[in-house]
Amino acid sequence: MSKNIQAVRGMNDILPEESPAWRHLESTVTRLLDSYGYREIRMPIVESTDLFKRSIGEVTDIVEKEMYTFEDRNGDMLTLRPEGTAGCVRAAIQNGLLHNQVQRLWYRGPMFRHERPQKGRYRQFHQIGVEVFGLEGPDVDAEHILMTARLWRMLGLEQDVTLQLNSLGSSASRTAYRGILVEYLWHHVDSLDEDSRRRLDTNPLRILDSKNPAMREIIDGAPKLNEHLDAESQAHFEQLRAYLDAAGIAYQINPCLVRGLDYYGKTVFEWVTDKLGAQGTVCAGGRFDGLVEQLGGKPTPAVGFAMGVERLVSLLEQEQLPLHHYQPHGYMVLVGEAAQREGLVLGERLRDALPQLRLEVHCGGGSFKSQFKRADKSGARLALILGEEEVSNGTLGIKFLREEREQQSLDRGLAIEFMAGYLAECNA
Ligand code: ATP
Ligand code: MG
Repeated sequence: MSKNIQAVRGMNDILPEESPAWRHLESTVTRLLDSYGYREIRMPIVESTDLFKRSIGEVTDIVEKEMYTFEDRNGDMLTLRPEGTAGCVRAAIQNGLLHNQVQRLWYRGPMFRHERPQKGRYRQFHQIGVEVFGLEGPDVDAEHILMTARLWRMLGLEQDVTLQLNSLGSSASRTAYRGILVEYLWHHVDSLDEDSRRRLDTNPLRILDSKNPAMREIIDGAPKLNEHLDAESQAHFEQLRAYLDAAGIAYQINPCLVRGLDYYGKTVFEWVTDKLGAQGTVCAGGRFDGLVEQLGGKPTPAVGFAMGVERLVSLLEQEQLPLHHYQPHGYMVLVGEAAQREGLVLGERLRDALPQLRLEVHCGGGSFKSQFKRADKSGARLALILGEEEVSNGTLGIKFLREEREQQSLDRGLAIEFMAGYLAECNA
C-alpha cells in the first residue's frame, strides 16, 4: 500500500465545521468596507520575485528567508505572494488607477511565507487587506483605525484587542536615527543575540522588534525613534492622535513598533490581543508614501493595513459567537419511493417561493429512525416529514427538533405558507 499523501506542512484545510466562522468574518468585513466606500480588487497570487524584493526590502525576514520563489518553465523568477500591498500597488500603477484620483481599495486571499509553523503562524495563511492611494493627511490614517475598531465591535471582539501606535517619521529622519541607534547598540554589542548582531549592519531598526526576552533591557534603554521625528511627521502624528482622542479610541504609544517591511513611514499601528499566545497581532498597517514611486509610479501618498484571518477566526471561536445562521432551517425526511419523488418536487417549490430558506433534502433512503438522526445532526430546526401515510393523504408532517412543541400534520398545499411563517419567526 502506498502512503497517503498529506497536505504541505503549514498549509491547512479549512473544514466545514470551521467555515461558518470564516464566512461570518468575511461577510462582516465586506459589509463594513462597502459602508466606508472601499472597492474590492483581486490580484494574482503569483508575481515577479523582483516586485517583492523592491518593495518589501532585501534585508527583511520575508525576502531573506520566507518567500516561496521558483523558476517557471520560461526561466522567469516568480514568487507566491507573501503579502498583498506590493501586488496591489503594481496593479494600481499598471492599470492607471492612480491618475489624479483617490483610490480606496481592498483585497483578500491566501499569502505564503516559509515560516516555522505554530499556532497562529502558517505557511499558507489569509489576509484581508485595505489600501488607500492619493490621500496624505492623517484623517485617512484615522479612518483606518476607526474602521477596524468598528469591525471589532461588529464581531463582538472589542474587549479582546488593544491598539498600539507609533510614527516612523520620514525616511530622512529614520536615516538620522539609524546612526544614533547603531551607536547605542555597538556599546552593547556583547549582549546582542545573533540575529540582532547580524541586523546591526543591515537593518538595525528591526532589532527594536526582537521577540527575544533577553534583548528586552537593551531595547528598552535604546534611544527612541519618536524622539527624533522631523517636524512634519511629528505634526502628522499629533493630528492623528487628536482625531483618535476626539473619536474616543484608546491607544498605547509603542516606540518599539517598527513593522517588518521596509516601505513604511510615518504612522504605523497594530491591533494586538493577549488571548492567542505569542502570535498576538491580528491587524497591522501604516503609511507607505514612498512605495508607489519606488515601484515606478508617480509620487503618491498611501496608507493601508492587513488583518490575519486565521488569528481573527481563532478569536471568534474562543468567543463562541452564535453562527447557527449557516445551519438549515429544515431537513426533509422522505421514506418510500413515492415520498422521495414528491419530496424532491416539494423541496423545489419551497425554494422557488422562499429564496432565503435553507433546506436539506434527505437522499439515499433509510428508515425514519436513521433519517431523524441525520436531521438532528444537520442542525436543522425542523424535520419536514413525508412517509407513505403523508403521501396517500396529501399531508406533510412537521417535527420541531429544537423546541418543546408538538408535532404537526398539515395539508401539503399549506406548506409554503407554513414555512414562510416559520422563517419570519426565526428572523424575529
Ligand atoms: P508577525 O510579527 O506576527 O510575524 P508580520 O509583521 O510578519 O507579523 P504582517 O506582514 O504585518 O505580519 O501581516 C499582517 C498580519 O497578517 C499579521 O498581523 C498577522 O495577523 C498575519 N500574519 C502574518 N504572517 C502570518 C503567518 N505566517 N500566519 C498567519 N498569520 C500571519
Ligand atoms: Mg512575520
